[in-house]
Amino acid sequence: MAHRVTLIPGDGIGPEVSAATRLVLDAADVGIEWIEKTAGTAALEEYGELLPDDTLDAIRSSRVALKGPITTPVGTGFRSVNVALRQGLDLFGAVRPARALPGVPIRHPRVDLVVVRENTEDLYAGIEFERGSAGATALREELRALGGYELREDAGITVKPISVRGTRRIVRFAFEYARAHGRKKVTAGHKANVMRYSDGLFLQTAEQESREFPDIEWQEIQIDHLTSRLAKEPGEFDVLLLPNLYGDIISDLCAGLVGGLGLIPGANIGWEYAVFEPVHGSAPDIAGHGTANPIAMILSGAMMLRHMGEQAAAENLEWAVDEVLGRREVRTPDLGGSSTTMQVAEEVATRVTAWEHGPS
Ligand code: NAD
Repeated sequence: MAHRVTLIPGDGIGPEVSAATRLVLDAADVGIEWIEKTAGTAALEEYGELLPDDTLDAIRSSRVALKGPITTPVGTGFRSVNVALRQGLDLFGAVRPARALPGVPIRHPRVDLVVVRENTEDLYAGIEFERGSAGATALREELRALGGYELREDAGITVKPISVRGTRRIVRFAFEYARAHGRKKVTAGHKANVMRYSDGLFLQTAEQESREFPDIEWQEIQIDHLTSRLAKEPGEFDVLLLPNLYGDIISDLCAGLVGGLGLIPGANIGWEYAVFEPVHGSAPDIAGHGTANPIAMILSGAMMLRHMGEQAAAENLEWAVDEVLGRREVRTPDLGGSSTTMQVAEEVATRVTAWEHGPS
């Protein structure tokens, strides 16, 4: 086999869209050896932990993973597996392309942008103090002593660290991505006027680094203004460079611009490892129905193929997706159709296999 890939099916609709994607990638016939591992609630039952070392070790060994979504229970004290995975493997950059696809009716047909999100810092760094805990009390006292800051006794606290080092590498990553993919402009979103020492530092560092890339246009914009411009004129943007929290929110907004979460792929990239996954979550509302849209995960698979050097196979797969969507015949309910997850996958797989004869 030419490529070893760790497959984490996830939960909710994860196993459904993972099986669909596997079918399509096997049809691409690039010699993938799948190493299936668990994370999330499935792993909790088997290993007693949400992200077992066995799974992390498998990714470290294969270096590339394809992952379905994983549910994070809200307010239970469990840390998000997704966040732990990104931090554990230092997958510092998330890449989420949102492009208008054939046959998907949308308001702004010119959308073709890429969100580059910092993945390890910011409010998602996981530095939190529960309301009423000894840590929260100690931190409140420290803040009072440091600067006379008064936090309410019943406050929970989440810390927002943004570093020069963390920012520098994501900015370079975004500009290098832009260069490598023929993109012309990088727009950084921030709220530097309010959060002077976190977003302010992000903006200042990004501005400095941008000077190293004179061939790519640099633009900065306040995050609230960005949301309104994206709703009105998304075609004006190219690469969006965002700190972690804004990147998370804006990715979903961009998904909405091009037809929904069922269509947006994603990659989490570090110096050593890469984990490919759709932007969407485990969609508990439709899990088990067999009707989840597999396109987001299939396109994540195409990003993975490109990362592994299988350029032609990646293009073939993207072409096959465009073909199936463009014909408007086989599509899942989120796109107004009545096909199942597997019917869409089979349709894409058939075209993937036929491509060597050229587009029909
Ligand atoms: P979600 O993305 O799971 O669902 C939001 C809406 O989009 C739902 O109505 C859902 O049915 C729809 N949707 C999502 N994917 C779809 C698809 N492929 N086809 C058709 N419709 C689709 O977001 P949520 O409900 O906020 O989160 C559910 C769980 O997923 C939470 O526990 C959350 O923490 C987790 N989550 C995980 C990841 C990840 O694993 N990377 C990402 C986001 C959310």
